[in-house]
Amino acid sequence: MKTLSFLLLAFVVAPAPLASRADSPAAPQFTDWPAVRSVSGLGVWLSDIESRMPAGHIYRDADAVTWAHETTHGINSRIRQAHASRGRVNGVYVLQGQAVVFQEPPIRLSDVAATVPAALRGETFQLYLVQQRQYWENEPLYVLDEWAAYTNGSLVGMERGVARGESLQFALEFTAYAFSLCATVERYNQQHGRSYDDRQLKAFTAWHAGRVLWMYDQVRQGRYPAMRRAGQDQYFARMQAEDGLNRFCAWYLGWAVRGWKPTSTMTQEDRPCRAGGKLLERLRERGEARGARWRRCLLHPPRRGSR
Ligand SMILES: [Zn+2]
Repeated sequence: MKTLSFLLLAFVVAPAPLASRADSPAAPQFTDWPAVRSVSGLGVWLSDIESRMPAGHIYRDADAVTWAHETTHGINSRIRQAHASRGRVNGVYVLQGQAVVFQEPPIRLSDVAATVPAALRGETFQLYLVQQRQYWENEPLYVLDEWAAYTNGSLVGMERGVARGESLQFALEFTAYAFSLCATVERYNQQHGRSYDDRQLKAFTAWHAGRVLWMYDQVRQGRYPAMRRAGQDQYFARMQAEDGLNRFCAWYLGWAVRGWKPTSTMTQEDRPCRAGGKLLERLRERGEARGARWRRCLLHPPRRGSR
């Protein structure tokens, strides 16, 4: 009850009525994260990921989805190290040579965990939001690190037809955790004179949630049958049913999972990726770029400065 009442509190104290909110988030600020070597033969996405790490790194795995997931963590660690001079930063690799870098907010991972509504404490909750506090209690953006890892891993699974539906379910679970992270940061800001600049967090969460929900929608429609798992639908239904979180997201992000359609995030995604580049051409040749341009854009981060 405490959790829900806080989310509703964040909603209740919102300065503007829901319907009139105008400043939906801009696209996140992307940072170039170029390849360190040329890699091919692993498929589009795993080659993309693998090319960001030096040969012989420790994150490789026999399973392509696990390989992508763990190597994403390796890249994210390097992004953090590269920006360490900016203080307490975290960063995530979102494919196609683009990273997103954030300042850590002054909240704890346990604060985020307490904010996740009970109904949305998924299969990943105990391990990542409870046990991992021993390592990441003061780096709550760890939630985004896992969110990106499960998303990149799921894209590899979709592309290669790997039966790892739990990866996409967990990307959905982390979507709810990321919303809860935003709500926790918003509560902090309301109590501390808005001292944490949450624009990058907000913009990234809106953009990345749109990607994950679109991926889920594609799988739900049967386009990637190996990645299907019943738990995805059950968790998505619980996300739609969670009143406090949906009200918070509608206010904070400008849209919510309840009522979400693939077009909900279309406008923002459509603009930045006019310059599709060679990767899109390759996907198109292989028949994997069905549908309108904006759908592909959800998988392809916009180039920096193109928003
Ligand atoms: Zn992980």
